[in-house]
Parts: sequence; C-alpha cells; structure tokens
Amino acid sequence: MKTSRYEARMLRAEYLAEKYPFAGQILQFFQHITRFQSDLSARIPELRGGGQPVGPPEKQVRSELNLALLLPYYPTFLTLVRQHAPEPLAQAAEAVAAKGAPAWIELFEDHWASGGKRVEESEDAKEDFLCRGFLQPFAEVAAERKQAPIQSTASLVCPLCEARPVAGILRPEGDGGKRFLLCSFCGHEWEFRRILCASCGEEREGQLPVFVAEQFPQIRVEACDTCRHFLRTIDLTKDGNAMPIVDDLAAIPLTLWADEHGYKRIEPNLLKT
Ligand SMILES: [Zn+2]
Ligand SMILES: [Zn+2]
Repeated sequence: MKTSRYEARMLRAEYLAEKYPFAGQILQFFQHITRFQSDLSARIPELRGGGQPVGPPEKQVRSELNLALLLPYYPTFLTLVRQHAPEPLAQAAEAVAAKGAPAWIELFEDHWASGGKRVEESEDAKEDFLCRGFLQPFAEVAAERKQAPIQSTASLVCPLCEARPVAGILRPEGDGGKRFLLCSFCGHEWEFRRILCASCGEEREGQLPVFVAEQFPQIRVEACDTCRHFLRTIDLTKDGNAMPIVDDLAAIPLTLWADEHGYKRIEPNLLKT
C-alpha cells in the first residue's frame, strides 16, 4: 500500500513533465527523491524504536523517531541529491555531506521539532530541503497511524503536528466541493471552511480573491488581501487524477504570478516551486 502511494506520485510526475515541459527538470528530480522515499519507507518498521512518546497520543507525530537509527541511510540520500538536483542544491548536499554525522543529527532534530512551524522562512532553504526530503516518509507514516482529534473546520495548523498547510484540496461533494488543508510536515489532511484565509483567518469574502490560470484549470490560487498570503488549492472537481503534492510542484508560473502581485506563500512546498 505504501509503495503504491509513491508509485502514484511518480506516475503523476511523469505525466505532468510531459504536459508542462518547463517543470520537467524539477519533476524528474522529484521522481528520484520519491523512489528513495519509497525504499526508505519500506524500512520504517525497523527504524521506529527508541523514541519516547511526548504529549497526548494524537499529537505524538513528532516524538516517535530515533533519529540516530536513520543516519546510515543519509549518505545515499545526499549522493542522490548531488547527482540529480539542480546545481545550487547539489552543492548544498555536498556541504552537508562534509559536515558528518553529529551535524546531521542536529539538523534532523531541529527539523523534526520545528518543520512547518517556523514563522520566518528558514535561513537556509536548501538545508531545509535536505532534512524535509529525507524525513518526510517518517512523518507521513507516523501521522497515518494517528486518529485525528475532533476539531473545528477553522484550524490554521495541522491538528496532529501543528505545522502550517502546504496546499489545499477541493474534493467533490454534492454540487460543489469540500475543502481540506494538506499538512506541510506530516501529510495529514483536515477539513477547512471554503471561505476562510488559511493564514490569518480572514472570513470576509470580498477580501479573499480566487485566481485560476487557463494553463492550470485544476489549481486555484486562493489569496487574501488582508494578510497578502496565498494558498494553492488542487481542485479535484476539475481533475480527479490530480495529486496535490505533485501538481503543486509543477505550477511554477503561478508562483511567479503571485510574486508579481505581492502575495506570499503560507508555506513552501518541498522544492520551493
Ligand atoms: Zn501535520
Ligand atoms: Zn489572510
């Protein structure tokens, strides 16, 4: 089941790379990362031991990992990034590789505690990727095993790990769609009201313009004129095959558009596209 999730992402990336050639390089790199994550996730059962649960059971996503057990797998990940990533990221991987195991543990611990929660952007976006890409499968599996607490449909952060959303998802329901937010750290989805800013909680419809580009009918850019943030929501009522984390990666022109119009993303995706 886990394998099929990663396979599905790779297939979607392949399809989108053909449809949106400008995103080809990034999607190809994403496929390499996904293949690595798929292999790593198969080993998760043997890597779980030792982490002490902290806090109420539904919020233990961030406290279940013995990060030292992961170290032997990290050099393979860094090598893969050096071989296949765009140049600046490949160089960052080389620099991190040279730092050695104690520094890696520090990076992991920092990311595991605060990934998706920092208010300012991380000082080093490349280093952030080098942790997030590696640890993502563990966060996703940890979240899958949790029962989400009963909660309102207005939570601006993930009910399981308190990270901000990386994207929205609109799923068909009745005549319209039901909106969910997708966690940037653990991949959990939680229901969220349709007319509500996911950054500041603005609820006046006039302040919340929605933009859809012809090139990406399956993606809504949901902006907020109060806090000037935006969220990209993948609209499954327009394309039932769309996959939020993959389609979002391909939408590079929408990022340029948002930049030009002075809207800032709530939380960047894995490859900052
Ligand atoms: Zn989460
Ligand atoms: Zn807002």
